[in-house]
Amino acid sequence: MIPVARALEILRANCAPGATERSPLGESLYRVLARDIRSDVDWPPFDTSAMDGYSVRVADVPAVGTTLAERPGLVAAGDRPARRLGAGEAVRVMTGAPLPPGTEAVIPVEDVRREDGKVEARVVPRAGEHVRRRGESVSAGSVLLPRGRRLAAADVALAALAGAEPVEVYRRPRLAIAVTGNELVPASARPGPGQLRDSNGPMLLALLASRGVAASTRPAVADDETAVHRLFEAVDADEDALVTSGGVSAGDLDLLPEAAAKAGFEILFHGVAMRPGKPVAFGKRGATLWFGLPGNPVSTSVCFHLFVRHALDLLEGADPAGAQSVSARLSRAFTVRGRRETYLDATLSTVDGENRVVALESRGSHDLPTHARANALIRIPAEAGTLAAGALVDCLTL
Ligand code: AMP
Ligand code: MG
Repeated sequence: MIPVARALEILRANCAPGATERSPLGESLYRVLARDIRSDVDWPPFDTSAMDGYSVRVADVPAVGTTLAERPGLVAAGDRPARRLGAGEAVRVMTGAPLPPGTEAVIPVEDVRREDGKVEARVVPRAGEHVRRRGESVSAGSVLLPRGRRLAAADVALAALAGAEPVEVYRRPRLAIAVTGNELVPASARPGPGQLRDSNGPMLLALLASRGVAASTRPAVADDETAVHRLFEAVDADEDALVTSGGVSAGDLDLLPEAAAKAGFEILFHGVAMRPGKPVAFGKRGATLWFGLPGNPVSTSVCFHLFVRHALDLLEGADPAGAQSVSARLSRAFTVRGRRETYLDATLSTVDGENRVVALESRGSHDLPTHARANALIRIPAEAGTLAAGALVDCLTL
């Protein structure tokens, strides 16, 4: 058995980003940037109005009730910039319109009274009010999104603003999933005596989908040497990883590590000093990785979040530094026993700008209902003993 930190080192030494490719922006959610995105324009691209209203010079409206001359017509979004604002003049502008040069503020339309070509101000405008200046958010040439960034929806919008269409991203990893165990029936079936429904298969697919990775699902594998051997034999050389559940602990029917080795996988680790998830295995054949996750559903999930997620980030060239964990204060004291690093189901929230975390009462690695309520895992170092309320702990967000 090796410590978690060592297992992660081994993982990092064996996962490198693949090739890059161009992806249409509309299909690039969760993809990882292979290049910095720099804006080739200022944002906003011109001085513009934040409101429907009147373009004015501040000195022209010293007091409520001041009257200005309304220039005939109006400027709308998409119009060419209008002529310069004259002294004592107000120009009707729509939201998003380019402002006439000389504009110092926009008085919203609801704050004026209009009559016979005159505009009477009901407020005294402050300089810059309701005006968005060219380049105030982005100046041309600046980096908007760094290489290694996994694109969220708003990032896609930023990339579009910068003209990064199509966008250069790392190739998506190709993954296969297989569940193992004689006891398993599909979720659509009613389990007979001694059987239970496969929840890990659908969970793994969902975990991958949440990161934009589509995996191919192999038929469920029986606890049978030939079947297990065939599973490993059949892994395609251009698959980046096979993720399995079950069959890696010390029981007579835990056949995967040996079968993987026979099929040419180098076993890089098998057994990590953690709870849950101790039997987790990791191997490699050529460029293809194998993640042998233990079958208990919470172990499967914890090992996914700790190892597979990290590996996906590395395979996709994402910058995982810090992204995996946040530090939070324990809302309640508790005691952990045992010599392994422990991962506890927990709810993480922010109270007055500070992260707080509460451990949930879990019955163990089969307690899926509790795990489903958790949004984080508290990482407790080995031999931590009693942790006081208010202690800072490291959490893995789910
Ligand atoms: P194993 O790691 O193969 O020893 O499996 C440990 C326990 O996890 C089994 O006894 C099952 O109760 C459970 N289990 C294994 N595979 C699955 C699965 N695909 N879905 C739900 N539970 C599973
Ligand atoms: Mg099993």
